[in-house]
Amino acid sequence: MKHLETKKQILEKIKQNDNIIIVRHIRPDGDCMGTSIGLREILRASFPNKKIYSVGKTRAEYLDFIGTEDEIIDKQLYKESLVIAVDTATSDRIDDDCFKDAKEFIKIDHHLAVEDYAEINYVREDFPAASCIIVDFYDTFRNELVMPKNAAIALYVGLTTDTGRFRYRGVGSRVFELAAILMEHDLDIETIYAKLYLKDAGSLKLQGLIYKNFKTTENGVVYMHITQKMMKKYNLSYDSAAALINSLDSIKGNLIWIFFIDQKDKTIRVRIRSRFVPVVSVGRAYRGGGHPNACGATVHNKKELKELVKMADSLLKEYKENNEGWL
Ligand code: AMP
Repeated sequence: MKHLETKKQILEKIKQNDNIIIVRHIRPDGDCMGTSIGLREILRASFPNKKIYSVGKTRAEYLDFIGTEDEIIDKQLYKESLVIAVDTATSDRIDDDCFKDAKEFIKIDHHLAVEDYAEINYVREDFPAASCIIVDFYDTFRNELVMPKNAAIALYVGLTTDTGRFRYRGVGSRVFELAAILMEHDLDIETIYAKLYLKDAGSLKLQGLIYKNFKTTENGVVYMHITQKMMKKYNLSYDSAAALINSLDSIKGNLIWIFFIDQKDKTIRVRIRSRFVPVVSVGRAYRGGGHPNACGATVHNKKELKELVKMADSLLKEYKENNEGWL
């Protein structure tokens, strides 16, 4: 009930606008693409006379099976459009150049609410995936909205990827209800998981290298620096290498695991994950942010890399000293 008014306002805005452009964050993942494509397909099926676009500059090819994005040639269109930003906590992470020209602007997100950058800001920190917000929205207005099967597939991909296949905290009864709504479309789960999780041989070889060479700090932070050389050796795209972050997720006592991945522009992308202990403060300290147990950052050199590891190690030391029951 708490969110009903905001949901009604959003539906009203959607009804009032003939052109709707959905934008999302940079470095798209399963949830942000699933949310964008899923929402687009629901709106296209529900309002066939409107023009609905999903846009973004960068692409994650492994997610093409849920649907690809659109290109907007005439940038003037933004001035006549409702723009909806999904799964993006801060406006500087929106992967689009023109959203500021929007006639009207809505934010739909599930990250910590650090920036109200739109006119309507609908943030559901209680949901572990942005896709949940769209399925819940559909569920609220089932009488007026249509969910085609391709939307259900995209949203299921979002829901399952951001929850680590329903393993992470934040997955409660409502999440399973939302998954059940999607399953009304008889989704082929086996194919979806195969498309998401089958790996190239090179990826498994790099995983072997990671298992052999990851480093551990005094208090149990594990980390690995993935260099350009490694990616070249195993003929791996940057995305496939970055996707291996959870290779380090199941080591007893190691509650924080971190990947540092060399970028073409010489900066180093950081992916930080944790069990139990909140780590977003570490991401925020190094030009990043995200969720308590999954966040990102950027460091500029090895000195900063070491400092970040040290900060995570102190955090973990404090956590272990003050908590029991961690494994
Ligand atoms: P990643 O490791 O890139 O998958 O990031 C984990 C989570 O943190 C995702 O929800 C991202 O959207 C978020 N995140 C990553 N980098 C940043 C950043 N620089 N600022 C804010 N949020 C971020």
